[in-house]
Amino acid sequence: MQPVIYLAFVDDWEVRGNGTGDPRVLQFEPMRKLVKIFNRHGIRGSFNAEVMQQLTYRDQQERFPELKVIADEWEQVVMRSFRQGHDIQLHLHPQWLGASYQGRGNWKLGGDWSILNYPPQQIRAILLTGKQYLETLLRRIDPAYACVSFRAGSWCAAPSDSLMYILSELGFIFDMSIVAGIRNDTPQVKLDYTQCEEPFVPYYPNMTDARRVSRSIEPIVCIPTNSFSGARLALLRRDFGKTCLALQRRARNLRNGNAGAPPASSRGRSGDEWTNKGESGALGLLKRVIKRYVLGQVHIADVSRLNYAMMRQMMAHIRRQAARSGLPNVPVILENHTKDIHDFSDIERFVAEVALSPDVKTVTLTEIANGLRSGIFKARAA
Ligand SMILES: [Zn+2]
Repeated sequence: MQPVIYLAFVDDWEVRGNGTGDPRVLQFEPMRKLVKIFNRHGIRGSFNAEVMQQLTYRDQQERFPELKVIADEWEQVVMRSFRQGHDIQLHLHPQWLGASYQGRGNWKLGGDWSILNYPPQQIRAILLTGKQYLETLLRRIDPAYACVSFRAGSWCAAPSDSLMYILSELGFIFDMSIVAGIRNDTPQVKLDYTQCEEPFVPYYPNMTDARRVSRSIEPIVCIPTNSFSGARLALLRRDFGKTCLALQRRARNLRNGNAGAPPASSRGRSGDEWTNKGESGALGLLKRVIKRYVLGQVHIADVSRLNYAMMRQMMAHIRRQAARSGLPNVPVILENHTKDIHDFSDIERFVAEVALSPDVKTVTLTEIANGLRSGIFKARAA
C-alpha cells in the first residue's frame, strides 16, 4: 500500500548568519510573496521565526528608534501570516547574543553560532525566552497556540548532554535539526551528521546524541529535515544556467557602465561563512566540483536552493523512502530560506503539483505535533 505523505513546507525565516541583510528585503517581502503562493494553492506553510534577532532589536529599540520600526513590522508580518492559517515555530541563532548595533542596519554579532557551546542554564534561558515571546505574541490571535517544535540555528543540535532534555522539559514535542548526511567544518560551525542512524522517519533520539536512535521511548521525538543525494545532472544544468545568467547580467552592467553588485545592506553578505575547511582556494574548488558533479553530494531538501527538476527528484526520493518505511502515514519536513529565494516560479510550480498529488497531504508543524501526540504518526526506537 502506498503510504500517505504528510509534507510540511518549512522555512527558516531570518537575515544572514553574520547579521547582514535588510529584514524587509530578506524576510518581510519574500514571506508575503510565499504566503500568497501557499494561499493560491490551498496550502498552509510553517515559518521557523528566528527570534534572537527580533529580541535584540527590541532590546535596543529605545536607543535606536529605527530598530523599533523594523521590529514592529516583523511582528505584523508574522501575525498576518499566522492569521491566514500558517504556522510559526521557534528557530534560534545564538550568535545574536551580545550583538552591538553599528548604525545604518549594520550589526556586529558577538555570540557563538552553536547553542551547544553554551552552559545548560543559558540554553534553557534562551529557549524559554524565545518560546514565551512567540506564545505571548500569537496567543493574542489564538489562545491555544503553543510553540511545539524547534530547529536549531546552523543545525547544531547533537551531540549535547542537555539540549534534548531541556527541549522536552519546556514542552517541545519534536526537534527537526538533524539532517542526515551533512557535515560542516567552518570557523563558526562544526557538526558531523554523516553517520545518522535514521535519515527519514520520526524517531526517539538518544538523549545525549540525537544522531542516534534510542532503544526506548523518550520524552521528545526527532524528525529529520529531509535530505537526498545525487541529482548530479539537474545540479549541473542549474549551475550552468545560473552561471550563464550571471555572465549575461555582468556583460549588460558593463555595457551600461555600472558594477551591478547589490548594496551590502539589502541582500547582505553570505561570504565564505559556509565554506568548509580545506574547500577554499583552487584545490578546494576542484574538490567541490568533484563532490557536486561526480560523486554526488547530499542536498538538504531546501526548496530555495533547488530548481524544479531537483524538487521533482527530491519528491521521487521521498516517495521511495516512504514506501520502504512500511508506515501508513509519514510526516516529511522540507526546508526553505526566504532570504535565498530569487525566483519564486519554480517553487510555485512545485507547490501546485504537490497540492494536486493524491498521495500527499500538506501539514503544518503544529499538525505534525498533534499527529505524534494522537498516534497518527509513529516514532521508532532502536
Ligand atoms: Zn537559521
